[in-house]
Amino acid sequence: MITASIKNLVLDASAASFLCMQGDQSELNRTLNSAQKKGIRIWTYAGEYADLLRWFKVEKQHGSPSEDLSVVSPLKKLEQLRPEIQWLSALTGDLQGNDDPDPIALALTRAATRLSGQAWIATADQSRVQRGVPFVAVEDLVIPGLRSQIRFIDLETQQDRIRTDLEEGIHRVLHHGRYVLGDEIDQLEAQLAEMSGAPHCICVSSGTDALLAALMAIELKPGDEVITSPFTFFSTAETIALLGGVPIYVDIDPETFNLDPGRIDAAISPRTRAIMPVSLYGQCAEMDEINAIARHHTLRVIEDAAQSFGASFHGRRSCALSDLACTSFFPAKPLGAYGDGGACFTQDASLANRLRQIRDHGQEGRYHHTTLGINGRLDTIQAAVLIAKLKIFPDETVARQRVADRYAELLADLAETGCITLPVVRSYNTSSWAQYTIRVADREGIQQRLAEQGIPSAVHYPAPLYDQPALLQSGQDCPESDRAAREVLSLPMHPYLDDATQLKIVQSLQEALASSAGIQPEAAAQEA
Ligand SMILES: *Cc1c(COP(=O)(O)O)cnc(C)c1O
Repeated sequence: MITASIKNLVLDASAASFLCMQGDQSELNRTLNSAQKKGIRIWTYAGEYADLLRWFKVEKQHGSPSEDLSVVSPLKKLEQLRPEIQWLSALTGDLQGNDDPDPIALALTRAATRLSGQAWIATADQSRVQRGVPFVAVEDLVIPGLRSQIRFIDLETQQDRIRTDLEEGIHRVLHHGRYVLGDEIDQLEAQLAEMSGAPHCICVSSGTDALLAALMAIELKPGDEVITSPFTFFSTAETIALLGGVPIYVDIDPETFNLDPGRIDAAISPRTRAIMPVSLYGQCAEMDEINAIARHHTLRVIEDAAQSFGASFHGRRSCALSDLACTSFFPAKPLGAYGDGGACFTQDASLANRLRQIRDHGQEGRYHHTTLGINGRLDTIQAAVLIAKLKIFPDETVARQRVADRYAELLADLAETGCITLPVVRSYNTSSWAQYTIRVADREGIQQRLAEQGIPSAVHYPAPLYDQPALLQSGQDCPESDRAAREVLSLPMHPYLDDATQLKIVQSLQEALASSAGIQPEAAAQEA
């Protein structure tokens, strides 16, 4: 019977109570150790807390000498025994139309179906054992082997950490009902402004809308030129082109993948209105040099900081380094929501005011539209999610740096041989490590061999923007961007990447590179 691969194990009240009484030397606790090692998540059901207390009282009265009678609170004991146990929320649907003789068993079964991946419910209650799967008797519990999966980013572990705040925040919004521009938006904007050091923050519906609103705020007109990098996500130039502007591409610095400021002057024309540097992979562009050029030519600077919230540059923060900056809360970004979101930052109160109007149909007051805008507001529910995530963001930023340092250490020998190039962060920068991106030759082969080993990887980005069909622009000469698009490979990067997993990633990369070298005998022969 017990062959399926499960991802979750819920202890019902009887099993949890049994665990409290039997303690850490029990068979059940050993089983849970092995479940945890296999990456199985362990839960108790919030709807059963009263039952847990009841079971616990009964067991204590009939306790045998081996049981721990000093335990007074099963909640404390559970937390102490297995701090990884999480409360699975009870929701209204768990009870609706429920006339089961054991209504809580049915509620629990329903709650377990919300979990991602298959779940078993461990029980010490014979009547529940009789119900069969998902109920499994604690004494029959054998945890099946599950090859733990390596994730490119790990939002699940992050969610486990903030579940309480998250659920409270989302439910508060459900109940107060101000789903658009609710108090959480003001609260989030104040926190983001404070964290970045930019005086004004205006939350919007995505990173793309942040860029669009910023370009609208500086009144970009058709035919106006904006200098930017071709080696970035599509939105950077898409928003310029949407307003009829013309992206003028300047090549990147091959070490940082960011705009090479030395090439900007040559790209400036009488039509140039703004420079839009991209702080790619989490490292700020050369904002001081770019600002100086812009000042000299009276241009606006908009930092595309979609990947760099949390990064620093000469001790100042990304998003507070220029007239305007835009970030993204797409779930995969360093600070991600559970859906789309973004924010504009500015030093300038009048730009801030314009941005607030633009995100809300250009309204100055209710139904009084003084300018054309967009429907670009952030949902209050997403703000609640972000407020919960912001609490752990500084700690996650430190953890990402630790992961990056460990990669640098583990990959140093490979880099020495010249078959990969590691990311370079300038001494005056700290990266928010949106991506850990290396360069390799034979990228497709390497990616495929990594995938065979269960290691996910990604390419950010496979083509410079002037090669994208929608933005096709001939006559561009950005050889470093072309080369980067052929060579870059991003490895798994998130704050919860542990040593052992990172070692496995690095070993798989080593093997992939070795066999990649092996299948090119002609090339090797030529070199010899
Ligand atoms: C993600 C990203 C965007 C767009 O942000 P969305 O929130 O997805 O609209 C823009 N620029 C860069 C560099 C990005 O990485």
